[in-house]
Amino acid sequence: MGGTKILAAVLNSKEGITARVKKPTDPKSSESDYIEILSSIVKDVINEAGIKKKNIEAICLGVPGSVNPHSGVIGLAPNLGLKDFNIKEKLQEKVSIPVLVENDVNIGALGIKNFGVGKKAVNMLAVFIGTGIGGGLILEGKIYRGSKFFAGEIGHILVNKNGPVCSCGNRGCFEAIASRTAIVNKIIDDIKSGKKSELTDMVKAGERIKSKSLANAVDKDDKIVIKRISDACDVIGGVLASLSNFMNFDKIVLGGGLIEALDSFMLPKIEIAFYDHVLNSSAEGLKIVPSKLGDDAAIWGGIALAEEFLGVKV
Ligand SMILES: [Zn+2]
Repeated sequence: MGGTKILAAVLNSKEGITARVKKPTDPKSSESDYIEILSSIVKDVINEAGIKKKNIEAICLGVPGSVNPHSGVIGLAPNLGLKDFNIKEKLQEKVSIPVLVENDVNIGALGIKNFGVGKKAVNMLAVFIGTGIGGGLILEGKIYRGSKFFAGEIGHILVNKNGPVCSCGNRGCFEAIASRTAIVNKIIDDIKSGKKSELTDMVKAGERIKSKSLANAVDKDDKIVIKRISDACDVIGGVLASLSNFMNFDKIVLGGGLIEALDSFMLPKIEIAFYDHVLNSSAEGLKIVPSKLGDDAAIWGGIALAEEFLGVKV
């Protein structure tokens, strides 16, 4: 589930993804609107896969917000406009299939750990960089959710107390400095102050600057865009080094829209900053790798969730 779309897929661990359906959503949707949309997308994707409903073991929802996966209650999902809502109960009533709910970043980390580049990892950090920055923790092979299901919120680590205001209201959070949104804000300021960029026309027209546009500008050797992304890489490498010193991971996986569009440009720069800051012993044997699974990471994570909570092999 996202603020603007819901992506659904049917999959099992043998054949992989066998059907997909995508539907736009209105961010003003109510609780009952979401149940309606979800039940109709479930119906559509099952039809698309050409299988019977009774063969579905579980519906796994990835939600952008805090989620208690045991009760199925969404604590707060600001992008969906949902608060203290037991989405599991309501959807289960409607569709008569077991429903599991997990934070979207955690479910993505589970997908990477069980079916992606994280397969051999024991202690892994997955970081998704796009509109914001999210983190998922795998410790001793298992997802770590924290005392109140809030673990992994690395986007709000303090980087510079005099930095820009973050979506959380604080100043200088990691995502207020190094997310795609933060990078684009800097580039817009540069352009408004008269600096030349490949993105000048887009900015003047008020168009949304996506990761792909940033990647195109980098390909065209755009000095402003290169400078702002490089600055962000420096911060990302530094934060990852601090987290590595703290947790001693054996793998750090990078994903999200910005990394997918720019991994070959960004990863070497992130690594330079990382090795500049990290304590040698904590980096021994550690690998920093791109996820490569895209949105599918969260879909694959559903299998891991069904295995964890229902004890089924899908
Ligand atoms: Zn913040």
